[in-house]
Amino acid sequence: MKLEIKHVKKAFKDKIAVNDFSMELNAGECVGLIGPNGAGKSTLIKMISDMINPDEGEVLLNGKKITQAKREIGYLPQYPNFYHWMTARETLTFMGQLSGLKIEELTKSIPVILTKVGLSDAGNSKVGTFSGGMKQRLGIAQALLHKPSLIVMDEPVSALDPIGRREVINLIRDIKLDTTIVLSTHILSDAEEICDRFIMIRNGIKIEDTTIAELFARSNKNKLSIECTAKDLKWIDVAKKLPYVKEIEVTGHRLDIEVENIQTDKNRLLENALVHEVDIVKFEIHTDTLEEIFLQLVVK
Ligand code: ADP
Ligand code: MG
Repeated sequence: MKLEIKHVKKAFKDKIAVNDFSMELNAGECVGLIGPNGAGKSTLIKMISDMINPDEGEVLLNGKKITQAKREIGYLPQYPNFYHWMTARETLTFMGQLSGLKIEELTKSIPVILTKVGLSDAGNSKVGTFSGGMKQRLGIAQALLHKPSLIVMDEPVSALDPIGRREVINLIRDIKLDTTIVLSTHILSDAEEICDRFIMIRNGIKIEDTTIAELFARSNKNKLSIECTAKDLKWIDVAKKLPYVKEIEVTGHRLDIEVENIQTDKNRLLENALVHEVDIVKFEIHTDTLEEIFLQLVVK
């Protein structure tokens, strides 16, 4: 399995929703498409699933145009629509038939899928009685029905309460073992729990294609935090003049200090502070949270 998105563009009237966007995805990967509301995630996902056509560029699956390879893809829309009066089993039968599967096949595969998504006991219950997490799991079952090699999910957990969210994240982790996944979210910590790779999108443009480890390594390079008491804040003027100190940001009693080289400079900075009898409350290598990194990337 190989998905290639090549320079796709999509505009709605004069609003460019996705602009010159390219990415590749290989079998076994689980990629998170991350961006704030309005970034273009749903539009991109609809082009990957062949729900809408790009104005420019193309989407290829195993070298073939997506329109000819649609059967290989399972799609979970951002707002799946079910008939509330149908049972889970009826819903899957109905949707399976819509996507061209034979009733004999469905009779065999539906119980297996219901078990996989943890709904085997609810198979004969009406969808109208389902919780958000159950509906979303039914949506995933629907997307898996024809055994696609790639499953594309648009914000599968964003609208769920904590319990539903947990159910669906666990299910996605399980599916991930044997299916390639692309999912979108505007909540970074959700992607962090599931995805190996992140692609960030802002105003329709790709701004990052990276891993968590890489993001952390890059953003935290040469920063430390020192917390001291109020009377020691005057040491800042001394520290600012040190040749290896690049920048100091002061928040209350905390100093976030960027140095030339964390390995060589952390000890001599500490020594300098001690020589000046700074009463240190806390001394640590500064680590941005994923949320901070995300905001730096997306909001700038
Ligand atoms: P996301 O899923 O990241 O929130 P969308 O892909 O839904 O973003 O939307 C990207 C931009 O395109 C938004 O500004 C949105 O208003 C606009 N857009 C999306 N779909 C349509 C449409 N059918 N008609 C007009 N504008 C649209
Ligand atoms: Mg969306």
